[in-house]
Amino acid sequence: MARTSLLSTAAERVHVESKHIARKLTGAVAGGLGVTPDYERGRVPCALCRAGEDTTLAAGDSVTAALRNYEGHTWEPVAVYCRSHGVDRVEDAMDILAEEQVVVAATLEATGYLDPLSGYHPNALSFGGVELLDYSPVADGY
Ligand SMILES: [Zn+2]
Repeated sequence: MARTSLLSTAAERVHVESKHIARKLTGAVAGGLGVTPDYERGRVPCALCRAGEDTTLAAGDSVTAALRNYEGHTWEPVAVYCRSHGVDRVEDAMDILAEEQVVVAATLEATGYLDPLSGYHPNALSFGGVELLDYSPVADGY
């Protein structure tokens, strides 16, 4: 019985942690370290679709996104994927590092973004309805 309750406590902790991360990433702008969005047109490229084809993602599209907690203080998108590529694990998207890394499912939303350097981008996309698909804790990178 003691063993069972220990396990459920650990599962509960992971559950709470993923809720926390999902909440933190909801509304995060879909651009950064590894993702170069087209703020003017309100588009984000899929990291695996071929350039040249009009395969960019727009508001309302369901996506998966890989993010890393860069140096432990800011979540940076590494890549955004359209659903047809089926990237849903951290190791499918990037090397495992000694940082928190996640893959999330989200819906792109046009919420606008105030860039401290280049001003306000009304068509910029952010992540809505974020759901954690995979999580790699810091310890996995050692
Ligand atoms: Zn794609």
